[in-house]
Amino acid sequence: MTIKTIGYNLEHNLWLVVRLFFDERQDISVVSTAAHKDGIISVDTELTFEERHHTGSYSYPCANNADTCTKKRILSAVAGMSFYHTVQNVLPKRLPWGVMTGIRPAKAVRRMLEQGSFEADIARYLKTLYGVSEGKIQLALEVAKNEMAVLAENTPNQIGLYIGIPFCPTRCLYCSFVSSDLRHTKKYVYDYCALLAREIAYSAKLVDDAGLKITSLYMGGGTPTALSSDNLALLLDAVHSHFDLSALKEFSVEAGRPDTITPDKLKVLKAASVDRLSINPQTMNAQTLQKIGRAHTPDDIKAAFCMARDAGFYSINADLIAGLPDETEQDFAFTLNETDKLAPESITVHTMSVKRGSALNQHKDSYILTRAETVRKMLDISQSFMRDTGRFPYYMYRQKNMLGDLENVGYAKKGHMSLYNVNIMEETQTILALGGGGVSKVILPECDRIERVFNFKSPIEYINRFDEILTKKDAFYQLAARA
Ligand code: SF4
Repeated sequence: MTIKTIGYNLEHNLWLVVRLFFDERQDISVVSTAAHKDGIISVDTELTFEERHHTGSYSYPCANNADTCTKKRILSAVAGMSFYHTVQNVLPKRLPWGVMTGIRPAKAVRRMLEQGSFEADIARYLKTLYGVSEGKIQLALEVAKNEMAVLAENTPNQIGLYIGIPFCPTRCLYCSFVSSDLRHTKKYVYDYCALLAREIAYSAKLVDDAGLKITSLYMGGGTPTALSSDNLALLLDAVHSHFDLSALKEFSVEAGRPDTITPDKLKVLKAASVDRLSINPQTMNAQTLQKIGRAHTPDDIKAAFCMARDAGFYSINADLIAGLPDETEQDFAFTLNETDKLAPESITVHTMSVKRGSALNQHKDSYILTRAETVRKMLDISQSFMRDTGRFPYYMYRQKNMLGDLENVGYAKKGHMSLYNVNIMEETQTILALGGGGVSKVILPECDRIERVFNFKSPIEYINRFDEILTKKDAFYQLAARA
């Protein structure tokens, strides 16, 4: 693949659009020229593919006095659209989000709404500049408006706290998260928890010194409930004894694998004021669960929900995946219906994504991936299903390599939108992340910049280089003090 540009230096952005149509093995070359004159940004594209030349052009108005950032954004989108129009003659392909890559759609829309743009103008902008379909424009608008209701509660000096537990009972076929299979790493768990308790104590002092208040707390990973109830209690005691939680509005824990949930652990979580759980079926089809490496059955999911309800949890999220290997639209509809019978207050519908670090990617040839058109239908089904069952979309994000180039959407019943989820996706609040795989994000509002501080990913490295973890916390403090 060759991309040659003249008068345009955003090759990577163009490459992101090109790869929506071709995989890396294709031999193609793209030449694009760009001009910015008389208030118009215009890009001509020439594409050579299978020894034939195809040409096209796209233009978009841009005020001469627009700032560099706006010009860059428009130039990048126009180059994408120019290529999109050209390639359509060779490979007609439906792109629901058009050439909108590397941008969070709901975040872009929310910002325009906050700046006072009318919905009709936003819709026109998304359609003309990026080629976004009508359905996705409406989805982005709805998500952005719901997010605004959540974000209205944010005030300066508030932060979210993330605690990572990078252990799972087995590894899912599609997983690329930092998570170690407990069958091989059990011996590290206690040391990991003891050190994490130290990181908690150390960070709590810095949070206090910086005058920050924690409003949401998210324990994820991995699967925190894969820990024993004693280890969970050790960590939750550390959280309560060191952090000032007087401003806390939401405390979520990932209990993703139903087979890790026990009444004892739920009791520990409840005693620590956890008020939101995520119990994740992914699918309610037994055969698929086996195929994707989850050592539990649909009955385990039902039992876990019952246990959680009995323990007094009234805000439960369920993650599902559309496009799991060999699943049909009917299978997915079955999963939606069965999940709804458990009455989760929120459901997050993910689109299957073939992530680079996953076992699925390594053994791609052994699986039949769901066709893009089928996954699109699954998402359409889920959207109407959620509306009919009283859940509305309130956060959304897109990732690389999603089947059908679609999106992940969090739906919730009234009163159950997660503050943490909205803030992390919209990058509207500083997040302090502790534990293996944690990535702290400091929002520097004055220049719209985000600084990241990375903890080590693997639990073994976390244990062996723990002193460096504390230094990283100091780096977070320095940044947070500047924010
Ligand atoms: S439960 Fe989540 S973190 Fe654990 S292996 Fe599966 S996808 Fe990865």
